[in-house]
Amino acid sequence: MEKKACSKNGAHVLVFPYPAQGHMLPLLDLTHQLSQRNLSITILITPGNLPILTPLLSANPSIQTLIFPLPNSPLIPRGVENIKDLGDGGNIPMINALSKLQEPITQWFGSHSNPPVAILSDFFLGWTYSLARKLKIPRITFYCSAAIFAAVSDHLWGDSVAVKLGLEVKFQELPGSPCLTWEELPTLFRRYKELQVTDTNFELVKNSMIANTLSWGLVFNSIAALEDEFLDYLREKMGHPRVFTVGPLHLLGRHSNLGGSPITNDGVLSWLDECEDGSVLYVCFGSQKLLKKAQMEALAIGLEKSGVKFVWAVKQATTQQLMDGFGSVPDGFEGRVAGRGFVIKGWAPQSAILSHPAVGGFLSHCGWNSVLEAIASGVMILCWPMEADQYLDDKLMVDYKKAAVRVCNGSDTVPDPDELARKIAKSMRGDVVEKIRAKELRDNAVEAVKVGGSSNKDLDSLVQELAILKGQNA
Ligand code: UDP
Repeated sequence: MEKKACSKNGAHVLVFPYPAQGHMLPLLDLTHQLSQRNLSITILITPGNLPILTPLLSANPSIQTLIFPLPNSPLIPRGVENIKDLGDGGNIPMINALSKLQEPITQWFGSHSNPPVAILSDFFLGWTYSLARKLKIPRITFYCSAAIFAAVSDHLWGDSVAVKLGLEVKFQELPGSPCLTWEELPTLFRRYKELQVTDTNFELVKNSMIANTLSWGLVFNSIAALEDEFLDYLREKMGHPRVFTVGPLHLLGRHSNLGGSPITNDGVLSWLDECEDGSVLYVCFGSQKLLKKAQMEALAIGLEKSGVKFVWAVKQATTQQLMDGFGSVPDGFEGRVAGRGFVIKGWAPQSAILSHPAVGGFLSHCGWNSVLEAIASGVMILCWPMEADQYLDDKLMVDYKKAAVRVCNGSDTVPDPDELARKIAKSMRGDVVEKIRAKELRDNAVEAVKVGGSSNKDLDSLVQELAILKGQNA
């Protein structure tokens, strides 16, 4: 089903986002930028995710939608179409379910008077590479993660047999030869190694992940100055220069309505107005992660003992999740820290909080969107990576860029509250070098998105390359 709208003169591109919060946010921001540069866009979406597009479609009436129902999967409950309602374990069934859209996409393509000249799709939709080959158009991989992650991922999936279950992996040929313990490897890859024998759905996932770097080009929501060595590595590995770095995209404006309404949490900004510049620690572990009860208690004690001012955004657990051992803010905590701590139960206006001058530190799980938002605001990150690409983001920021401090790690780790309090107090109160590096990275980020900056230029180059493809098809 296709929505009719006025069209543009530029190349027609099919944009295919992956239905998970952290994946959709930046790709929709990029789509806005491409539409503003006169590309003609069709965006593929399932009906349940359509409302997320409202801000994008209002700002860009020319964007068309291609709406297909999510194909049935025995592992996805009826009515569920987004990973936020499935948890991380839902990625394998979701990738497989979406891959069944190959046939309807092919039919739509064949019946279109001006079919797309390229598919731009999320890196979790690597199967679109073979679809694009069938349609004889290029596929462009969009990474909502860092280039260091793409490089590691490419290595792991490309030579998965060499990786031994439970053992660490040394990436000898990657810049800085990083070494990752088994727990630090990307979650999807670990699941693959643990379950591949019993779960046939994994074959498609593996081939999809390998296809990402075989694609015509790669686009990163990142900054050239942040990871030039990994971007160069990928260019060399792929044997062509079509690796575009276009971030931080959120600095160019947000174009989706994901999460909750931040309006109800406006009070936090007035509270921050009363705090000294750089004095407040913001604590948030992204849009998905819930902490276990013991972790919540240790964190609460750590924050209290640190003596530091803080804003803590706490994702609310359901009754079932509480029964399953997940935690909530300990009783009496808010009273004990009144005046010094501000607790937000639910969705926080994170970008606005991070860009408030009172915020000087961010205790984060190192999700890539959070990292970029902290960088763009010049806020030092206190890292607690837990899963997925977060360990690599942590390594990039702590070990490679020396712009962040590691305070804990592990999805199930319960930090020692005294040690945590010491680390928080030391980095927030001390004159640490990481604060200076964080400000330098902010300057890089702001420069990159200005006219003539590296990300702005890469965005223009991407559009030019697509125009050439249109010319070839004419
Ligand atoms: N976010 C927010 N308020 C919250 C929690 C998260 O605005 O209370 C936003 C945050 O600003 C970021 C995204 O949700 O843009 C989280 O993405 P990230 O990649 O950091 O982590 P994920 O949720 O994918 O684990």
